[in-house]
Amino acid sequence: MVDTDSYNDWQVPPKLACLKDLAYNLWWSWHPEARSLFKDIDRTLWEETHHNPVSLMRGCPAARLEQLALDSGFLTRLDTVIASFDRYMTTDQTWFAKNHPEMNGKSIGYFSAEFGVHNSLKIYSGGLGILAGDHCKSASDLGVPLVGVGFMYPEGYVVQKISSDGWQQNVYELVNWGVSPVRPVFGPSGGRMLLDIPLGHSTIKVAVWRVQVGRVPLFLMDTNVEGNSPLDREISGRLYGGDRTMRLRQEIILGIGGVRVLRALGVHPSVFHANEGHSSFLFLELVREKVASGVQLDEALRQVGENAVFTTHTPVEAGHDVFAEEMIAEYFSSYWPQLGVDRERFMDFARVPGHAGWNMTALSLKIAGHRNAVSRRHGQVSRGMWKFLWPSLPEAEIPITHVTNGVHLPTWVNPELGSLYDRYLGEDWRDRQDDEAVWSKVAAIPDEVLWLQHSRSKSALLQLARARARSRWMKDGHNAVQVLAGGALLDHPSLVIGFARRFAGYKRATLILSDLPRLKKLLFDPWRPVQLVFAGKAHPADDGGKALIQQVYQLAKNPEFGGRIVFIEDYDIHVARYLVQGVDVWLNNPLAPLEACGTSGEKAGANGVPNFSVLDGWWEEGFNGGNGWSIGQAGGRGAGPEADAADAEDIFRTLEQKIVPLYYDRDEHGIPRGWVKVMKESIRSVASQYGADRMVKDYCNMLYAPRREAVGSR
Ligand SMILES: *Cc1c(COP(=O)(O)O)cnc(C)c1O
Repeated sequence: MVDTDSYNDWQVPPKLACLKDLAYNLWWSWHPEARSLFKDIDRTLWEETHHNPVSLMRGCPAARLEQLALDSGFLTRLDTVIASFDRYMTTDQTWFAKNHPEMNGKSIGYFSAEFGVHNSLKIYSGGLGILAGDHCKSASDLGVPLVGVGFMYPEGYVVQKISSDGWQQNVYELVNWGVSPVRPVFGPSGGRMLLDIPLGHSTIKVAVWRVQVGRVPLFLMDTNVEGNSPLDREISGRLYGGDRTMRLRQEIILGIGGVRVLRALGVHPSVFHANEGHSSFLFLELVREKVASGVQLDEALRQVGENAVFTTHTPVEAGHDVFAEEMIAEYFSSYWPQLGVDRERFMDFARVPGHAGWNMTALSLKIAGHRNAVSRRHGQVSRGMWKFLWPSLPEAEIPITHVTNGVHLPTWVNPELGSLYDRYLGEDWRDRQDDEAVWSKVAAIPDEVLWLQHSRSKSALLQLARARARSRWMKDGHNAVQVLAGGALLDHPSLVIGFARRFAGYKRATLILSDLPRLKKLLFDPWRPVQLVFAGKAHPADDGGKALIQQVYQLAKNPEFGGRIVFIEDYDIHVARYLVQGVDVWLNNPLAPLEACGTSGEKAGANGVPNFSVLDGWWEEGFNGGNGWSIGQAGGRGAGPEADAADAEDIFRTLEQKIVPLYYDRDEHGIPRGWVKVMKESIRSVASQYGADRMVKDYCNMLYAPRREAVGSR
């Protein structure tokens, strides 16, 4: 465990003391004026610390801080930022307060195995975590009294490095909590809070950390504590690391431990939300509490279910945790008597008829009274997948609704583009982001102004690719070919197609590489050249995914492709921001209907980067004919080589006949008027519908506080 004293011993000049508070609240990360304050303390250090204000301020020479404490310009800016931060933190005029007064004084416990808030807090792996982070940020913006519960992962975060032969190396980077935006939680007696959580026949000690995301606190559990066995200390070590037993132990701590942490903190949510099944043991723990207080089991189940929300995030089989019943028995044989049930009845909580095993999704669906999928299409698919749990209901009435995922616009919209929105849509666009009337004003942005802004975002992306390639060359001995594969030859005028996401089979990253001669013609058209930029990690244990990366990387290194196919290493929140803002088109071609929602395309669309995507997930409802392009047909073509070939044909034909010609169709000022029209329609339609505020409002109105007709928007 980190020496907690080091949390308080670092000093800053008194006039800058509030900067220290600001550094520990990730509010700064989605407020450009706060970000630029930190950046101006020391630009080099800002880059070197990967935009981590805690690390920056701790590493900054005292003389520099003293200088700033005398700099009246800096102090004035600081005052302005702190004033707006204070207003944000203390106002009671929030959307939630106005629309859900019946929830006054209540809270919502939001459990997730990962939270992707900012790169300086490495407790996420991909889409699920980033969605949770965006959910917390919008909840904070809207005044929703959310309390997050999750894990610290002290032993490492997978950093992706690609070897010269294209194989993903999983480099685990140790996280230094001393320079992260987290603070230890202390108990009533003043010492570090340490809880004993039952784990099978023994107990394990859990320490708690707090992260502040605007108004929303996240409480993160850490088992790397003195007094735990070495094996137990590793439980919270790595996100999705370890074997099945480790995974089960993690999920017990997350669910059962999480409830106990909240109780110890005196937090008693009136609604509990499990974001995916990893945390769903929490529902059992709530039932146990009720039974212990004398409530009959069936009544306890009913009461818990009434206030329990469960979100399922994927139709992909491997995304649903199933544990052997023997393993469950080993950890829960002392638990089921506490519920007053025997082994059989207990196993039934999470059984899928006809299958052995304890299924976390089944557990969640059976207990939680409010269930949702994450897009309209995914709702249909989920009702079909799980209908056997409600054998008497027709499929359309299976009680799984949907709330389509959205993205936190202040986080994902390029700040300079955000200033354009300020100017043309009104400075309150962030607060009115789900109001279509706001976005209809996009038409008023002059074409050349929007095009110039996009061109700047594109330059920033190319700059990032080059800076990374240079650094890997200088520091890590990358050879010249790897430098080119990293994007050193990308040019600005050529159309850039972006493809970035987890490298999992169903995402079909290599579909566009399935006809190389045809691809080459596109890339090397002398008048209308095209470039392809890839990024994405494979799961550390997924050799199939790594092989796909290798296939891309081999082409990126191949001189025949002239540096026009590029792979940017280590896709994370930072790289994703540059990509979704800076490429020209966002390509997504998963095998339908396996993309539950997909959120990166929403990020791109809100930045005026049109989507070119399979009609699956959010795009099946978001595509309107004018805001991008579709691939294949709604509902997909089924799996198999023929379906792949048909989708690939579609991709090439649309690129050749529509996308590339439109991009290069310029007027006398060099502005692609038709293209800019698609960009504007993309912003208008995507930003208004797929922002996280709309999503969080839907959760509030439909799932957190569904009994009351909400007043106001949506
Ligand atoms: C948004 C995001 C994702 C999820 O995007 P998908 O479209 O669902 O693949 C994954 N990783 C990072 C780093 C992201 O920013």
